[in-house]
Amino acid sequence: MAHEDHDVIYDLLAARGVSRRDFLKYCGSLAAMLGLSQAFVPEIARAINQGAKLQPAVWLNGGACTGCTESMAQADSPDVATVVLEILSIDFMETLSMAQGQDALDAAEAVFEKEGEYILIYEGSVMKGFDGNSLRIGGKTGLEELDHAAPGAAAIVAVGSCAVDGGFVMAAPNPADATGVQMYLDEKGISTPVVNLPTCPVNPEWVVAIVVDVLLLGSLESGAILDKLDRFGRPKYIFGQTIHDNCPRRGHFENGNFVSEFGSEEEALGYCLYKVGCKGPQTYTNCPIVRWNRRASWCVEAGAPCIGCGSLDWVDVGAPFLNRHRDLPLPNVGNTQPGVIAGVVAGVAAAGLVAHGLGMKATGRMDGGAPYEEMKEHDRKRMKKGGGK
Ligand code: SF4
Ligand code: SF4
Repeated sequence: MAHEDHDVIYDLLAARGVSRRDFLKYCGSLAAMLGLSQAFVPEIARAINQGAKLQPAVWLNGGACTGCTESMAQADSPDVATVVLEILSIDFMETLSMAQGQDALDAAEAVFEKEGEYILIYEGSVMKGFDGNSLRIGGKTGLEELDHAAPGAAAIVAVGSCAVDGGFVMAAPNPADATGVQMYLDEKGISTPVVNLPTCPVNPEWVVAIVVDVLLLGSLESGAILDKLDRFGRPKYIFGQTIHDNCPRRGHFENGNFVSEFGSEEEALGYCLYKVGCKGPQTYTNCPIVRWNRRASWCVEAGAPCIGCGSLDWVDVGAPFLNRHRDLPLPNVGNTQPGVIAGVVAGVAAAGLVAHGLGMKATGRMDGGAPYEEMKEHDRKRMKKGGGK
């Protein structure tokens, strides 16, 4: 890499106390997440360094708690991811832009005029209720804003579960008629490609990975990004394996060592959280690998069951969150949202896990672990009915 390529990023990093070594290490972990060999590290470093010269991005907010913005901001002591995002061209972000009022709206408008050249990052659900008036921004409804911004974007990155399928905002009875970006665009016949990054909130590492992949490494331009997405529009390299596949408590699951009650000895021993509601077996994200809060920890490591926020329809399907997942109701089969499929997959996974647990019991592999929770009468009834409640 030519020395001059380093100037922008290394000056910025040095000013923030981030060493070149840390930056290259970070590029290495990005390469791993993107499924690239470490030989791509210099290319990623160069691409990030040149980021400011590439396509602009606009970050719009739909109906949400701004938790994804909070997750991205992590303002106390900027790490490499934060610095990288600062040099990328996010020209407008409703909650964090320096400009305010009409000046901020003008900045966004200047980007929207560059048709086909900008990336739209969308946080929050699309609020269709009350003729779109459940969300108004700058004198327009949220729907008008999205209708204006989406068709001209080169691609849309839907960050957080609200943007992906409506998230907690669309939980029943969903008075604001909230939905996800892809679902809304399908209704409107807008064909801009959408990359979905669920979880509540979004993991900033994933946003950086997507920005690097889509914008800087040219996956969008070459069309390669479409091959990297699963049927729900999620990048396979992030959402291709279950939490359970990579969970450090998996050995306890296999040995039948479960936490049945919070505050118990089994909990203090760090046993598997499946019986207190862990949705790790049916949730597809790389949370155990990438982790959260500057890679400090993640839900199960912090002692909380995964509540499945990386799945679609996770609120209505998963609540109450601390129930064993074999108690999950199957969603209404008549529902046409993608969450139905996710819910059916969850039901199949739950049935498989009950069978798996019974198999372990039958073969004596659970002996010596926490007391096995016998199948309850309502479980038997559910299984006879095929998983419904
Ligand atoms: S059920 Fe949850 S806690 Fe147990 S091994 Fe799987 S992901 Fe980890
Ligand atoms: S571990 Fe589960 S609940 Fe926690 S962020 Fe990941 S998907 Fe969401």
